[in-house]
Formats: sequence, C-alpha cells, structure tokens
Amino acid sequence: MARDSYDTIIVGAGIIGLAVAREVLARRAGSRVLVVEREGGPGRHQSGHNSGVIHAGVYYTPGSLKARLCVEGAARMYDLCEQREIDVHRIGKLIVALDDGELPALEEIERRANANGVAGVRRLDADGLREIEPQATGLAALHSPNTAIVDFGVVCARLADDVREAGGELRFTWEVASVQATTTSIRLRAASGDEAQGARAVFCAGLWSDRLAVLAGADPDPRIVPFRGGYLRLAPARRELVRGLIYPVPDPSLPFLGVHLTPRIDGEVLLGPSALLVGARDGYRLSTLRPADILDTVTWPGTWRMMARWWRTAISELRLAAGRDAFAAAARRYLPGLRSEDLLPAFAGVRAQALARDGRLVDDFVLSATPRAIHVRNAPSPAATAALALAARIADAADEL
Ligand SMILES: Cc1cc2nc3c(=O)[nH]c(=O)nc-3n(C[C@H](O)[C@H](O)[C@H](O)COP(=O)(O)OP(=O)(O)OC[C@H]3O[C@@H](n4cnc5c(N)ncnc54)[C@H](O)[C@@H]3O)c2cc1C
Repeated sequence: MARDSYDTIIVGAGIIGLAVAREVLARRAGSRVLVVEREGGPGRHQSGHNSGVIHAGVYYTPGSLKARLCVEGAARMYDLCEQREIDVHRIGKLIVALDDGELPALEEIERRANANGVAGVRRLDADGLREIEPQATGLAALHSPNTAIVDFGVVCARLADDVREAGGELRFTWEVASVQATTTSIRLRAASGDEAQGARAVFCAGLWSDRLAVLAGADPDPRIVPFRGGYLRLAPARRELVRGLIYPVPDPSLPFLGVHLTPRIDGEVLLGPSALLVGARDGYRLSTLRPADILDTVTWPGTWRMMARWWRTAISELRLAAGRDAFAAAARRYLPGLRSEDLLPAFAGVRAQALARDGRLVDDFVLSATPRAIHVRNAPSPAATAALALAARIADAADEL
C-alpha cells in the first residue's frame, strides 16, 4: 500500500480540478500537488461532453458568482487558448424572441448583459436578425458577437500538460472511496486501497461532488441530481442552415438555456441539449440505471418538490428524449427550413445539477468547506467558460483553510 504526502490534493480531473491544480502551482511554485481522477484520463465527464461554448456572460444575475466569473473566465480562457494554440472561433450568438410574450425576458437578458459588462451586445429587429442568420426567423433578437466555440476536451488536455510541466502529478483510475481529516492533514483512500495524504484537499468531483462532501463530513444539502442532455447533429449537407449559435429565450426560472443550435469546432452543428432527469450519474445512455443513484434521487425530498413544480417541463423533456421529431419541431420555430430528416444522432452529456432540500434547482456556483478541504458543490454551465476564474476563487478559499 502506497501512502504519499502532498501540500494539496485535488479530486477530479475535469476542467475545474485541472484549473485549480494549475492555479495552485502558479501561486506556489515547487509545492507538491496531486490530482486524482477515477477515470482513465482527463475530462471524461461534463468537461468532455458539452456544447463547447465560451459564454460571454449575458444571462446571469448581476453580482452573482456566475456573472462575475463568466465574464472574467471567458477573458482568461481566450488568453489561455492563444498562449497554448487552442482553436477558438468567435462566431457570435443570437438569442431569438419568437413573439411579444418573449420580449420582456429578452429585455431582461439585455439589461443583465449590460450590467455584467458584456461587450458588443446589440438588439436586432426581424430584418437585423436575418442579416446575421439568413435562415432564421423571429420577432427580435439579441446578438452577442463575442460568444465563441472551443473544444473543452482539448482545453482539459492542455491544462493537464501545464500541471505536469509545473511539477504536479496526475493519477488516473484512482477513485476516492474514503476521506479522513485531522486538524493538520487530510487522508484520502482509493477504492484500490492506495492512500494519499495532503495538508489540504480540493474536491472538484462534478456528478459525485455531494457524496464526497458527505464523506468528508459536510451537510447533504444540496444533492446532485443527474440531468442528461441529449444532442442531435445536422446532416453535413444541411450545416449551411446556420452560421453562428442560435438560442431560444430561456425560461428565467430554470438553470437550462433551452434547445439551441451550436456549430462545433470540428464543423458539426449540434442541436440540443435536452434536460432529462435520469437513473444514473453516468447516464449517457438512457438504459444505464444505477440503483444507488436512483435511490439518492428518489429519497431526496427536493426531488419531489421539484417535480411538483416542474412536471409539465419534465413531460416535454421526455418527448425530446423520445425522438428527433420533437427536437426538430422545437428548433423549427426559429429555423423554419429544418426538417426531422436533417437530424442525425450525436452524443449526450450529463449535468451535475445541485438540488436543494426545498426543491430549488441551485443556480449559482457553490463552494463549501469541511476540515482541511474545499468542496465545489455546484458548478453547472457556464463553469467550463469560467473555469480559470473559478479556480482562482477556489484557490483563495483553500488558502484560507
Ligand atoms: C450537456 C452539457 C452542456 C454544457 N455546455 C456548456 C457550455 O457550452 N459552456 C460552458 O461553459 N459550460 C457548459 N457545460 C457545463 C460544463 O461542462 C461544466 O460546468 C464543467 O465541465 C464542470 O467541470 P467539473 O470539473 O466541475 O466537472 P467534471 O468535468 O464532471 O469533472 C469532475 C471529475 O471528477 C471525477 N470524480 C468524481 N468522483 C471522483 C472520485 N470519487 N474520485 C476521483 N475522481 C472523481 C470525475 O470522474 C470527473 O472527471 C455543459 C454541461 C453539460 C453536461
């Protein structure tokens, strides 16, 4: 059995864990940093299964962590991509209002974008919208020219390189199974029996973050519930239907942005994601069901409170999961030329959504502490965009332990 000693142990080699490791090494050159990850490589969960959008920060409540860290994080992400020669395309985004009923929400997004200091956002009428996206239709739109696309999987791989180059260590297939803290150190034990000891630990475990926090002695509130986001893609011959990103006006009371069209850095155009509560935290396939995950979801009082409020939305998400016709119908409202047969299967991601005991879908980023440890309890979208700024915030919290 190997037991090693480190200054900082980071759990999770998603974009947040890797960004934290890089930040800690940048602050304290030569310190002993270990990243442990249950999978065989970096970015295997949310950070490698997402829309790949560097958000500009238009949606988020002014003053929230999301608002501040998205704007700052996007700027840092562009710098990183330039330094490390990672492809980024600033293709811009339209948020399209279809009727009068959606105009107040569009106005609110414009107000938030201005309050958050997002540069270049403009209001467009129906003609202006068509100048940017000739195949789209709508009553009005907001255009955010600084929204971009990137492959966050590539970003994770570069961050892992940076961590290694700065002297950090990464161990894969190392799944933390138990946590024990004293007043001066924290000991992690892997399912394999290996152990590692640190002066402090930072848990960035995404879909499993609540379980690890509870293992370390934290309150079980909020619990993580897995929301699967399924995507389809446009047939190659139909990719010319869109030039940039096209989004609907989202429901402001939900933390999801609605089914959108997203060109990808490899040339594919994605349609999605849906948002379906599923029976496994790694429920990339609908058929994957894990009894422990199902039990965690159904025994959580917040689940039933959420369902009582959102059952209609849940039914429409079930329709989206059932087939491409519902997806095509959702997108045809703002892209009338789209037909069901233009859509091909793509992939799915699973969101780690924190759900409070009272049934509230936790919107903002949440950090908490246990003895010798910091836990990232909620890091949904735009956390990939915000990763480098969020990592600085997490490192500040870890420095105060
Ligand atoms: C469908 C979808 C679309 C999205 N689109 C966007 C977007 O366009 N733009 C954007 O900014 N954000 C987007 N997001 C959000 C973004 O992907 C996430 O916020 C971000 O990737 C979270 O990173 P993370 O490091 O916290 O989590 P993850 O990438 O999930 O990493 C957590 C890691 O912890 C590891 N781990 C868990 N338990 C253990 C354990 N016991 N021991 C060791 N390791 C463990 C996991 O294996 C995993 O690798 C999207 C998310 C989804 C799901």
